[in-house]
Amino acid sequence: MSIVLSTLKEADHENRVALSPAVVSRMVKDGYQVLVEKSSGEAAYFSDQAYTDAGAKVVDRNTAISDANVIAVIDRPDDATLAKLKSGQVLIGLLSSLIDPDKMEQLAKQKVTALSFELLPRTISRAQSMDVLSSQASVAGYKAALVAADDFTRYMPMMITAAGTAKPAKVLVLGTGVAGLQAIGTAKRLGAEVSGYDVRPASKGEVESLGAKFLTSSVSAAGAGGYARQLSAEEQQKQQEELAGFIKQNDIIITTAQVPGRKPPLLVPETSVKEASAGTIFVDLAASDLGGNVAGSKPSETITTDNGARIIGAQDMASQLPTASSEMYAKNVQTVIKSIVKDDALNIDTDDDVLSELVATHDGEIISDRLRKALNLPVKPKADESTDTKEDSSDDTKDQSDKKEGA
Ligand code: NAD
Repeated sequence: MSIVLSTLKEADHENRVALSPAVVSRMVKDGYQVLVEKSSGEAAYFSDQAYTDAGAKVVDRNTAISDANVIAVIDRPDDATLAKLKSGQVLIGLLSSLIDPDKMEQLAKQKVTALSFELLPRTISRAQSMDVLSSQASVAGYKAALVAADDFTRYMPMMITAAGTAKPAKVLVLGTGVAGLQAIGTAKRLGAEVSGYDVRPASKGEVESLGAKFLTSSVSAAGAGGYARQLSAEEQQKQQEELAGFIKQNDIIITTAQVPGRKPPLLVPETSVKEASAGTIFVDLAASDLGGNVAGSKPSETITTDNGARIIGAQDMASQLPTASSEMYAKNVQTVIKSIVKDDALNIDTDDDVLSELVATHDGEIISDRLRKALNLPVKPKADESTDTKEDSSDDTKDQSDKKEGA
């Protein structure tokens, strides 16, 4: 095998790493050479020695960039690093391709092949083992429940002791997609009384299968591709009013609601935050620079309100569980690499149903249709594109953003 794979040390705020020693070991057995930038795995407790034992060579950053055919990262590297990439090299990661399409144009000019996980077609079953958004959202949902329990000043389970009985905590999860379901499962395992709420009626069965109660929304907003659609202003108002009642009855509110391509919906307005009892915990997984699901939430900050509620802006939950999230991410990367290597050489088949979307740039061209649209480039019609598919592709689904990359 002539392919050299490498990974780089991420920026200081990021604890994850794109390759784990376990995956390196499997890649080396498959014949790959692996280079790991020194200290890449430190924050995830993967030592340089562990990578060496797995068969990798620990090198400086410049060598990890210049000597590799395929470079795997978590977040898009800084501009100075991108500028060093050469024609024919492959970069795989959460590249924020739709947020910063101009960076992809630059990579196309450099003839770098960029694979951006936000572009993965998640509903194709073959792509599920490459789905970083799901693997990282799952970690984030789990950690969100733990962070809430840790900040909560009472017990999660019911406790019967000689000194009295403590009631179980009441946990409400708003948005029951991948992260929300994992938060529900974790809060249930901690013994809390859990309910879930979503505007997609299809999620009722999933919530109930975890033993939680489903609070049916009066607003039904299933969109295309299994996602929710954006609510109208009236629907949002109606939703906030109905949620206000549910929120008051709960001790912990974990919010995960996202709408592809849009700013996260505001589910908990300021009035609901003000009405919350002292000690109420809000964990906002949607907290971002664009805003979150909870009024006043700030990414990576915890705020105590005047009425004694706590709002945790849980933007970096996957990074806060770096060993588990990196292990899963690395397996996703391994599957992607298998799909671009044939007969010991790189083989980027841009006609493949998964790669045609996952590949942002190849051979000097912008490949992904979503990225082409973001750059106002013409999109080539697909031979098998039916009228139904076109109708389904509302703006919301066509334009899914990189909103979950920090999940
Ligand atoms: P997401 O991150 O886009 O959103 C999280 C949740 O928020 C979703 O359940 C959504 O319905 C909900 N939401 C959005 N607006 C809301 C609002 N105003 N009020 C309340 N809830 C709101 O979603 P996700 O976790 O990525 O997954 C969404 C769906 O896609 C799920 O059904 C999931 O099972 C499915 N999915 C399928 C695949 C696959 O087929 N391989 C992969 C990933 C996800």
